Amino acid sequence: MPVDRLKLKERGYLPTQEVHILSATVSERAGRWFVSVQVEEEIKKPAPTQGKVVGVDLGVANLATCSDGRRYPNPRALQQVEKRLRRLHRQLSRQQKGSQNREKTRTKLARTHFRAANLRKDSLQKVTSAILAKTKPARKRPRAVVLEDLNVEGLLSNHRLAQALADVGLAEFRFQIEYKAGWYGSQVRYADRFFPSTKRCSRCGHQQELRLAERVYSCEHCGLVIDRDLNAAMNLEQLFYP
Ligand SMILES: [Zn+2]
Repeated sequence: MPVDRLKLKERGYLPTQEVHILSATVSERAGRWFVSVQVEEEIKKPAPTQGKVVGVDLGVANLATCSDGRRYPNPRALQQVEKRLRRLHRQLSRQQKGSQNREKTRTKLARTHFRAANLRKDSLQKVTSAILAKTKPARKRPRAVVLEDLNVEGLLSNHRLAQALADVGLAEFRFQIEYKAGWYGSQVRYADRFFPSTKRCSRCGHQQELRLAERVYSCEHCGLVIDRDLNAAMNLEQLFYP
């Protein structure tokens, strides 16, 4: 392949000093072109953090709810793209195999999937950074983050699109939290998959059933009335202190 120059639209993205550039790879996805640059940089070992432990409940309406009360809603742009994705999937299933219209829908679908993936990653990047990195001073960053375990069996057997999308987000969230925790000196803990983070009362430990539509946890034992997701996040936080 001939070596030539490439004009980039972005400016200021490429690392210049401090890092050693190893290689660059050009690739294409859904009609767009990308250059990925491999760099080598020494990251200093982070100082131990002394901040509070944060339990994080991941959901659909709210992407993440933290035990300290912070909430990160699912961005509207992403919800809209996911709606469009569902519509295109239905459209595709009605179109005749081998037809031109079907091919057009396939192209649209690939682009939309790509856009959804980018939006999802971007919003997750913002949330995981907000949870782990943004606290000042640095030593006040969370000592640990506690998350629910991922149901891997469910992930593999689930064919419903909405659920599949939510699971993709969950896996990406964990991935980001883990590597950022490494950068910032926090620990990551997981609840085991049978931990009743939703059913348990975060004040008294009583357990009761909760329907999916119930957004508020009202404890029958101690009378605590609390947002369902916040209660779950607080239960996760408490797992850190056995
Ligand atoms: Zn209670």
